[in-house]
Amino acid sequence: MKAYRAALLRFAEDGRALYDEDGFLLVGPGPQGHRVVRAAGAWSTLAGNYPGVAVEHLPGRILAPGFIDLHVHFPQTDVIGSPAEGLLPWLENYTFPHEARFADPAYAHGVAQVFLDELLRHGVTTPLTFATSHPASVDALMAEAERRGMRLIAGKVLQDRHSPDGVRDETEQSLADSETLIRRWHGRARLGYAITPRFAPSCSDAQLRGAGELAARHPDVWIQSHVAENKDEIRWARELFPDARSYLAVYDGFGLMRERAIYAHCIHFDDDDRRLMRSTGAAAAVSPTSNLFLGSGFFDYEGARRIGFHHGLASDVGGGTSFSPFHTMLAAYYVGREGQTKPGISLSPQDLWWQHTAGAAQALGLEGTIGNLQPGCEADFLVLDPHATPLLSRKVTHARDLDELLFSLMVLGDDRVVERVHLAQ
Ligand SMILES: [Zn+2]
Repeated sequence: MKAYRAALLRFAEDGRALYDEDGFLLVGPGPQGHRVVRAAGAWSTLAGNYPGVAVEHLPGRILAPGFIDLHVHFPQTDVIGSPAEGLLPWLENYTFPHEARFADPAYAHGVAQVFLDELLRHGVTTPLTFATSHPASVDALMAEAERRGMRLIAGKVLQDRHSPDGVRDETEQSLADSETLIRRWHGRARLGYAITPRFAPSCSDAQLRGAGELAARHPDVWIQSHVAENKDEIRWARELFPDARSYLAVYDGFGLMRERAIYAHCIHFDDDDRRLMRSTGAAAAVSPTSNLFLGSGFFDYEGARRIGFHHGLASDVGGGTSFSPFHTMLAAYYVGREGQTKPGISLSPQDLWWQHTAGAAQALGLEGTIGNLQPGCEADFLVLDPHATPLLSRKVTHARDLDELLFSLMVLGDDRVVERVHLAQ
């Protein structure tokens, strides 16, 4: 067992932030072999209960839960910052040609190392990530995450139509490969598998039906895809599936909406779509830097909250422009604030931080396991230095309350703030 003394950020069950300026965090072995939080709270009330436990003092630092990225593409690590006129040209000109290279396992392994290095450097301890359509890309990433003791969820992309040679897969084989990968990786070490139809227009009816059947056979496996990102994409999906009530309803028709199903974007929704998200228990991965970069639109937070469906934050690299949760939280603030195309609301810093940690864990069905530092949670945590850069240091000194402190970090912070990352391995 080991204890830490520093400021401590956690979340209550209702999403409120709990903050101890002089905090105590005790970490020790948990029932499944990896380390968990054994006690967390104020130094003055807890420290006396654990005489003899080694304490590391971290003056001026903040202990915070590792961030969760609800939607990212590991093979697009090098696609970041590629300009295009919207989503579909961006896929065609940059993404598909790049992803074709992941047929080579050695190449996939090299990028997996860079990808996990980048995530950890930015304080992301759990990603839900797409691989490519090549099973070897999943093997490369999973093996590297296992070696590091990282919690990670990933899946082989399904795309058997409207995709160029080199990334297009074959219906029956793609489903058999997915099932093999589930058996190989899901539940091993800290790894999980996600059934991953790229998006409805890239999948035949037979592939989507097969993916739904796979999801029914493996209810604890995740599902991930994209929906309602861009108006051209929606028009295309409606042409391909004329009988579905909406683009989102296509997935429901194939049994792909349930708890543990995470849909990126969810921008151009009506209230029936929002109710479908709520009633099925599916969750939205809000990807604000990507939506701003590709000009896709603005996630409607007011609508999501009025109807009440799960949502959390994501980088969506390479459409997204940064691995940094600080940049993503700030972009989510811009997106929430936009009030010309939808109701504009000011999201609080505590709320934004929750969406990237405990709220994201709730979206994944991993509440109480990751994304928080309450007793029993896996001990994936960060040591943040709010004095890492001159202007930030000056700003936090004047912060009068927790919201001002967190907002300063969000607006001025980046990877330089993340001094250390502890994994629960
Ligand atoms: Zn994406």
